[in-house]
Amino acid sequence: MKVGQPIKANPITSSVDFERDGIQHGHLRLPYSRDDSAWGSVMIPITVIRRGKGATALLTGGNHGDEYEGPIALYDLAQTLTAEDITGRVIIVPAMNYPAFRAATRISPIDKVNMNRAFPGRPDGSVTEKIADYFQRTLLPLADVVLDIHAGGKTLDFVPFAAAHVLPDKKQQGRCVEVMQAFNAPYSMMLLEIDSAGMYDTAAEEMGKVFVSTELGGGGTATARSAAIAKTGVRNVLIHAGILRGDPAFEPTIRLDMPSAECFTFSEHDGLVEPHVDLGQAVRKGDLLARIWTIDRTGRPAAEYRAKMDGILVARHFPGRITLGDCLAVLAIKVE
Ligand code: ZN
Repeated sequence: MKVGQPIKANPITSSVDFERDGIQHGHLRLPYSRDDSAWGSVMIPITVIRRGKGATALLTGGNHGDEYEGPIALYDLAQTLTAEDITGRVIIVPAMNYPAFRAATRISPIDKVNMNRAFPGRPDGSVTEKIADYFQRTLLPLADVVLDIHAGGKTLDFVPFAAAHVLPDKKQQGRCVEVMQAFNAPYSMMLLEIDSAGMYDTAAEEMGKVFVSTELGGGGTATARSAAIAKTGVRNVLIHAGILRGDPAFEPTIRLDMPSAECFTFSEHDGLVEPHVDLGQAVRKGDLLARIWTIDRTGRPAAEYRAKMDGILVARHFPGRITLGDCLAVLAIKVE
């Protein structure tokens, strides 16, 4: 942005009023004129529930369009939560990257942009960049607590965890950790990001918000267990924030940490994955994690991938076939 240039307005208009008491279901409408719809729009569903003064929670799913626990929990919450149940405000966007969610793809089919690498976005950018800018400049500033529900999508599978990051502001980090624990997934993870630039997480954290994300499963589907974890977790977070009345559900959680880049194993081969460890299983440094067979011919030994540290397997490549550069396995250590 050049000095003296006016900041452009975002083209998204909201059919809900964020300051009105009661429950409103509507859309964020983003003009998107295209071949099959002149003067058409992307219509992103949104619900706002407000009663009196209090904290605001911003709840999102579908940041990646092939992850389903967030949308399941949030379409359910929007349909079941009432204004009488709460004090403060709940903003629910079940499918943040709505074009990607409709297409069941990780990134937007319109501009091929990954929402979680598009922040802070651009008001005059592509469709995904415009949605990111709307979150950056309109929705995030309204929020006290931000929960973004992810899973592994079509190509990764995770043990179900809620996650917080190591932050420079330790008081802010402490508040994020409290909300992570309140979500009460079976695992609670201090998450090390490979590439945090452009993430929604980073945008919210740099704004000083209390931010928690999750990875609740994967493979491009939800299970009865992972959907239930998401639904319970969302309500637990609202209770913790003082927005929803009631007692939080509480189960013991396993605390995890990712101390270094040794946690990650990336594939250096194309081929067929033969897993040797399943999610949640403990390994020692040097243990075989997986073998990758070349599929071009028989009679060749498989490539072996071994654990670079002691830990438990928290994420794995989901499809049976793998490509050079894919994330094969992620380890984390249990914190006693
Ligand atoms: Zn995701």
